[in-house]
Amino acid sequence: MKRIIRRRKSGYALGFAFCFVGLIVLFAVLWNAWPNVSDSPDVFSALGSYLLTKQFDFGGGVSLKLIDLTIIGVGVLALGFFVLALSRQIFSVSGENVLLKCPYCKNHWKARRASGYAECPHCRQFVQPTVKKIGK
Ligand SMILES: [Zn+2]
Repeated sequence: MKRIIRRRKSGYALGFAFCFVGLIVLFAVLWNAWPNVSDSPDVFSALGSYLLTKQFDFGGGVSLKLIDLTIIGVGVLALGFFVLALSRQIFSVSGENVLLKCPYCKNHWKARRASGYAECPHCRQFVQPTVKKIGK
């Protein structure tokens, strides 16, 4: 169990790191482009054409178009969200079963994990169940 939790945590860390890097790249692109397009009457099309034409020079002969950087930023961000979603899934699949109790009909049912709201399988009400027991 410990191993899975650790994997989940590193998955989250990796996901957040990707999201963070993606946001930084996007922010840098916008930071670079904004002063050049903010005066334009149509900011979005100005931004689009600016991204398509402007080269970003990293030095040492390495340069990328801003649109490439934008795509990379969005891609890394999407990857981060994907990793986050995957980490969540690993957790819920390997999660312990919990026994939930319906506050209305007082019946119990087993669930993969405790959630704030759930549909009671007995009275079909959308309830806020209380956690009775956490088992394996
Ligand atoms: Zn119920």
